[in-house]
Amino acid sequence: MILASYLQGQWWTPADGTGATVVRDASTGAEITRVSTAGVDLDGALQYARAVGQRSLGALTFHQRALLLKQFAQALTARKGELYEAAKGSGATARDSMIDVDGGIGVLFTYSSKGRRELPNAHVYLDGPTEQLSKDGTFLGRHVYTRLPGVAVQINAFNFPTWGPLEKFAPAFLAGVPSLIKPATPTAHLTEAWVRILVESGLVPDGTLQLVSGAVPGVFDLLRLGDAVAFTGSASTAAALQAQTPGGVRFTSETDSINASVLGPDAAPGTPVFDAFVRQLMVELTAKAGQKCTAIRRAIVPAGMMDAVADALRQKIAEKVVIGDPHADAVTMGPVVSRAQRDEVLRGLRTLTDAGGRMLVGSADAPDVVRADGTTGPAGDGAFVAPMLVGFDADAPDVVHEVEAFGPVSALIGYSTVAEAADLVNRGGGSLVTSVATDDPEVAAELMTRIAPYNGRVLFLDTADARTSTGHGSPVPHLVHGGPGRAGGGEELGGVRAVLHFMQRTAVQGSPAMLTAITGVWHPGAPVAEGEHPFRKPLSRLRVGDRIASAPREVTLDDIETFAHFTGDTFYAHMDEDAAAANPFFPGRVAHGYLLVSFAAGLFVDPDPGPVLANYGLEDLRFGTPVSPGDSIRVELTAKQITPRETDEYGEVRWDAVIRNQSDELVASYDVLTLVAKE
Ligand code: NAP
Repeated sequence: MILASYLQGQWWTPADGTGATVVRDASTGAEITRVSTAGVDLDGALQYARAVGQRSLGALTFHQRALLLKQFAQALTARKGELYEAAKGSGATARDSMIDVDGGIGVLFTYSSKGRRELPNAHVYLDGPTEQLSKDGTFLGRHVYTRLPGVAVQINAFNFPTWGPLEKFAPAFLAGVPSLIKPATPTAHLTEAWVRILVESGLVPDGTLQLVSGAVPGVFDLLRLGDAVAFTGSASTAAALQAQTPGGVRFTSETDSINASVLGPDAAPGTPVFDAFVRQLMVELTAKAGQKCTAIRRAIVPAGMMDAVADALRQKIAEKVVIGDPHADAVTMGPVVSRAQRDEVLRGLRTLTDAGGRMLVGSADAPDVVRADGTTGPAGDGAFVAPMLVGFDADAPDVVHEVEAFGPVSALIGYSTVAEAADLVNRGGGSLVTSVATDDPEVAAELMTRIAPYNGRVLFLDTADARTSTGHGSPVPHLVHGGPGRAGGGEELGGVRAVLHFMQRTAVQGSPAMLTAITGVWHPGAPVAEGEHPFRKPLSRLRVGDRIASAPREVTLDDIETFAHFTGDTFYAHMDEDAAAANPFFPGRVAHGYLLVSFAAGLFVDPDPGPVLANYGLEDLRFGTPVSPGDSIRVELTAKQITPRETDEYGEVRWDAVIRNQSDELVASYDVLTLVAKE
């Protein structure tokens, strides 16, 4: 059986299996599948994505794509048991699948909700404020993101067959760029399983998701400006592939990383933080048998606590870890993915011990394991490796900071000062993550300033968050995943930041009318329409630029007194003429800013029941010229941005509000946020 690919809207397998790679069960060595792409038409797949996939996604707004991501997540959730079952063959326990499968589904859900909350229901995304480029406001500038016109080629590592591709697919899909996913060969069948579920759901728009199950020969020669490559894997493969990437094609990479976890000098044995540190080290060593890019490769602890840490870890492993075939219920730690990977891990371990590392916990000998039938015995053909901790002093050689034994292996390194601990962290040459276990805010602050530039993410573990922390090894889609230097220099996740990898930022210059037409957002100086009160218009009739300009209203001393006593805001600037005049900003007693905003609402409101359902906030409120008793104010309220909701009978309308005084001076400016019915 040759594993299928999903290309150009159909399942495809090579005509014959000559030269196919055999994928075996990690626990037993039994054959699972064969992988080959002999004869694959990659050019056809890329063209299909650029034509059909681009068209499918171009027809959808950010919100419509985001809603589809949620439906994809629901379709996978309904059948995730199948994915858990299949993953056992690659050595994944239920906990491992929770990280990979549920983690991947979580990425879809998160991007769905972020897409609808943080992106407009439109096709372009605006970055930063409007820049006024001429004195009279007729020439403006703005940064605008539009989607890349090509295809996102996604090359994945073997250890996350679900989460890995999904954390690239979700942002690319949301951006509006079709994906060509290439999983790593040892676990390609697990990626094929979830792609098949999505294809069978009938939800995936044509050409937006394609899968190449196996090698992608010559693919880099077929890429061109407008395409993007997102790679996850080892640093050496990343360097080779980046060199092949044609100019103009974006290349982001997430590679291996010698992550660190630091135990603060205050976190002595017996403290909750010490326990949390050891528990986390045990989890990171054993989850996915240590095959996580974010796993702790270096535990950096006060020199005097090395023995205590090793003893506590040994005890925790004895209590909690059962190594074996994940088909057996009792098993909490499976094998690594293949015997080749096991050999690779043991080679890495030997490099560490040859460099002077002392085996403090575990050994390189194949452990006895629990088999699928529940019996215990030798590892046989399984790729089992026991958790191991290798000890070094602070003057440990460079290999400790360079070699990633991609399995259940960590180094324990002693330090004497916080500055030395930071230097040790930074010798990793750029990491995905470092965690710091301390209850001492000064230690935390000192480490942060020293190590942050060398890390994509820093997690502080203290007594308060020891139980609630999502953990050292768990990137969350809301926050940046990726690190500088050898970690690849990419930032794959991080909320909307990740979506922007698949979009082009362009500085757009022009008149207010042009910027309004291009962005769909009203810019001051663009045409406005007055007439029917805009609060009478449902979304179906409301247009950006619809405006109400109010009559003036005088602000009296009596108004200020009444407001002060009614609200309790008797701040001297409103109540005491001499004290107010002594203030550098006020000519004497002035009206409260909140009184002016309230008066403005009274001036622009249309009071009768109608399509405007609620005011849910103000943004960017700034007060300018103060208002003295006897001054008058008027307000202009202009529909600025209209965002219909896909799933509700209403949407958001952002209004540009400007209050001016009798001399046309700016008193206040802000955005009013309302919910308005579609009809
Ligand atoms: P790898 O050997 O570097 O392979 C990564 C991917 O590159 C695989 O899909 C592989 O395909 C593909 N590949 C290799 N040569 C290629 C070529 N010439 N053209 C196109 N694709 C090519 O890494 P791995 O062993 O799968 O994964 C383990 C490594 O990934 C570890 O070092 C780990 O730290 C790192 N990792 C990093 C992250 C992160 O987010 N930073 C996440 C997970 C893993 P084949 O399998 O078909 O050869």
